[in-house]
Amino acid sequence: MREGWIVVTGGNRGIGAAIARDLEGRGARVASISRSGGASAGRDLTCDVLDEAALAAHFAELAAEAPIVGLVNNAGRHQSQPSTTLSLGDFQSLMELNAGSVLLASRLVHPHLLRAGGGLIVNIGSFFDKLGTGENVAYSAAKAAVGAMTRCLAVEWAHDGIRLLNVAPGYIETDLNRDFLASERTRAWLARRIPVGRVGQAEEVGRLVGAVFDADVAFFTGATLYVDGGQGMNH
Ligand code: NDP
Repeated sequence: MREGWIVVTGGNRGIGAAIARDLEGRGARVASISRSGGASAGRDLTCDVLDEAALAAHFAELAAEAPIVGLVNNAGRHQSQPSTTLSLGDFQSLMELNAGSVLLASRLVHPHLLRAGGGLIVNIGSFFDKLGTGENVAYSAAKAAVGAMTRCLAVEWAHDGIRLLNVAPGYIETDLNRDFLASERTRAWLARRIPVGRVGQAEEVGRLVGAVFDADVAFFTGATLYVDGGQGMNH
């Protein structure tokens, strides 16, 4: 594992917390940035990921202590809504958090990664980037944008030694889908649709992201890694 900070947005719970724990277990110096804080692994920083000035100040504060070598753009929000009642404001708000924050944080960390001699940015997308599902037009569009941004930034920053990967989970048991997964009928339906026969755990995404940082493969950039129990192969 490289020396230096790896910043995880939304590292205080769910998938982000599992990523932060796994990275810390591998010896990384981790910092979490979320609105409510309370991260159990690494340095616990708070701000909204859309607050450019606060985010820049956190990066500067960390960089004063040690180089920043990685970023995980994990903070996000899901909202299911029929397209007929989805306002442009709702659409923009989901796009802004799920995709806009990826651009903002990546752009702000770019000079720090340059100073460190390069680095890795892992975006947390979703297998909804390709899957057609009802009432998910804004979320799916945002996650497809994350995949596209991963590929574009990977090209734009390749010569800077900065790599980008998109880790796209399937159904993972977290607060984000607690209500959806509360029904036994839904779980049984999902178990039939997911080839491995169950929903995923946050630790499984954490291990994949941790392994990608640990492996430090300089030729590996721009790719989307699906961690979805094989469900996305049904596209
Ligand atoms: P959770 O709802 O459990 O966690 C969301 C995280 O994002 C929290 O840490 C939250 O912290 C943070 N966050 C949300 N909004 C902001 C904000 N404006 N500023 C800073 N932090 C913010 O969700 P998951 O762990 O499930 O999701 C993590 C990522 O994984 C998301 O991008 C999600 O879209 C993606 N994903 C999840 C799947 C799943 O099945 N669970 C499937 C596919 C993708 P706080 O509220 O304290 O700010």
